Amino acid sequence: MTGATLDLGPSARAARRSLGGEHAGETGIALPPFIDHHVHLMLVPRSSLRDSALAGVVDLGAPLPLVGAELRRDGMPRLDVAGNFLTARGGYPMGRAWAAPGCARELDPEPADGRAWLPGAAETAVREQHSFGASVIKVALNRVAGPVLDRPTLDAVVGTAHDLGLPVVAHVEGDDMTRLAVDAGVDVLAHTPFTEIVDDGLIARAVAAGQRWISTLFVAGYGEATPDAVRAADNLGRFHRAGGRVLYGTDLGNGEQPAGLNPAELALLLGAGLAASDVIDALADPWPRAEQPQGVATFIAGEPPADADRLPDWLASARVVPAEDLEYLAAPPPLDDPSRTDRLETL
Ligand SMILES: [Zn+2]
Repeated sequence: MTGATLDLGPSARAARRSLGGEHAGETGIALPPFIDHHVHLMLVPRSSLRDSALAGVVDLGAPLPLVGAELRRDGMPRLDVAGNFLTARGGYPMGRAWAAPGCARELDPEPADGRAWLPGAAETAVREQHSFGASVIKVALNRVAGPVLDRPTLDAVVGTAHDLGLPVVAHVEGDDMTRLAVDAGVDVLAHTPFTEIVDDGLIARAVAAGQRWISTLFVAGYGEATPDAVRAADNLGRFHRAGGRVLYGTDLGNGEQPAGLNPAELALLLGAGLAASDVIDALADPWPRAEQPQGVATFIAGEPPADADRLPDWLASARVVPAEDLEYLAAPPPLDDPSRTDRLETL
């Protein structure tokens, strides 16, 4: 080990683009396909992400006709959708200026008077998202903005989703909302909690339950070290150190962000204590699917950065390429450069 290079983890491989086509013979680093696990296509059209570093996106709240039409359209980036925000009557995000008409579905409380054998609003709504092609279910648990689903209704959402094999992702905001999500068996948090410090005991329970957290650190302060941003970074760092699975996500469409990878989000992940290889794992996690996007890879031309400070911009310069265009360099050329041997072996 020379210590001169950054450990990008086992998924990084030196590669050369094939001799045909554009950029013939260019060398660089190949990585697994990258996914932004929290976007809103009602605010950022999928077509604007076609030639970016993103091979996949997960839409976490949109009108059903919009995402239903997108799901029927082939092309990049790969798309998974939640369909509507499921929320309490008058709850978040009802009334928000950015919330396109039809992006949220208000649920009446589950009946508690012995009629529970009838399908309630929660079950009906979850089945409707599923029939439109949703592969995850999104619930809003935001007590700062308004009423929140009561526990029987939340349980009905989670139970129906799990019966259909769908994970549940929650927007948590306000005191005790993270605890409610963990208690109710929510699979993923749409944002790292930013309004409350999550204590280590609750983090341990979330990790033990296999909960994943989508990062969205940038939108907690839009680049400023606001109290929300500081709390989010603290929570995510402790969640990561406790063994929690972090998913890269930006809430793309929220505020001014690049149409692709956001280097500011990547820098905040490093700042929260993730190593370079952890950041790559957060980008490459295929959630909510088991398989990564097929037939494509991430390619970054040129030398990888020597230090973490340059990692965000380097990653953001990545492009999605057809996997068949890459030739993996098993042996490190040229032999007259000994440092190159070290570099390729330590990737
Ligand atoms: Zn969002």
